Amino acid sequence: MNNTTEDKQANLFWFKTKVIMQKREELNGHKSLCVWLTGLSGSGKSTIANELEYMLHQKGIRTYLLDGDNVRHGLNRDLGFEDKDRKENIRRVGEAAKLFVDAGIVVITSFISPFKEDRELIREKFPENKFIEVFVDCDLDTCEKRDPKELYKKARTEKINTFTGISSPYEKPDSPELHIFNGRDSDVSANVEIIFNLILKLVKTEEQYV
Ligand code: ADP
Repeated sequence: MNNTTEDKQANLFWFKTKVIMQKREELNGHKSLCVWLTGLSGSGKSTIANELEYMLHQKGIRTYLLDGDNVRHGLNRDLGFEDKDRKENIRRVGEAAKLFVDAGIVVITSFISPFKEDRELIREKFPENKFIEVFVDCDLDTCEKRDPKELYKKARTEKINTFTGISSPYEKPDSPELHIFNGRDSDVSANVEIIFNLILKLVKTEEQYV
């Protein structure tokens, strides 16, 4: 045994539960979904995610929001910002999001998630039609001007040495389900509305009340 992931999993078996995802969805009255927001720091992910969750909640849809900083306070508090840790951060969030989808919930994630390969690995974990990638697109210059947490400022003065867009790459999605332009002069509410409408369409069931 050389203690690879395969070795560690050798004696594990999947336990099939009586209550399955479809049953949880029936009880909720809508389907589950993972709405994965990706974009630069300051592009507007958290603002959009927060408003989106509020609107869905008002509509009677069961939701949860996994937000970058919040998750790093708990589940991922042991991780830093080197490439290896960023990858692990996103992998864990993907697994957590998958649990929420299995629980029948519409989960919104708000993470820079800069690497294409990591986002694709996550997409593959989900059943078909249960994952949508939303690219919150805002040019670096505007993000840097917004800079509500003064992180760009710190990155420019090298107080932060691996910062996405400055000293660490951001790989844009090639074909996201939604490409939202949230740069200068863009209307956040209108952008939230676009995502909201797509989600409603995707989580609707035959005997739907939403
Ligand atoms: P992120 O979660 O991607 O880091 P935030 O949601 O924290 O970004 O947004 C960064 C800042 O930009 C916040 O102060 C927010 O209010 C502001 N913001 C977001 N979208 C817009 C927009 N379309 N126009 C102007 N300001 C915006």
